[in-house]
Amino acid sequence: MCQYVGISYVECGHVRFQLHCFCQQMLTQLQRINEPEEQEQHALPFDPDQAQCEPYALFDENGRPETRYGPGSGNVLWWVFNLSEQCPGCEDVRA
Ligand SMILES: [Zn+2]
Ligand SMILES: [Zn+2]
Repeated sequence: MCQYVGISYVECGHVRFQLHCFCQQMLTQLQRINEPEEQEQHALPFDPDQAQCEPYALFDENGRPETRYGPGSGNVLWWVFNLSEQCPGCEDVRA
């Protein structure tokens, strides 16, 4: 399963995920783009369908990320608590 770095914007409570690394299954799916048989199909059937590769994390009752790591706690390798940068989620609302 793919792994992510979680970014938590402390002031507004938004979170976002950055892909840290692809797993082998996802890489295999991506490489289908280079296969001639796949390319001959009218629409490249690119649907990685890797539900376990979506970012997944645990949150406490206040919506803050749980910084417990290990089995069952999701696929976020670590969290960055951001106090200084403008939150892109809030930017979108303002735009
Ligand atoms: Zn994956
Ligand atoms: Zn925000």
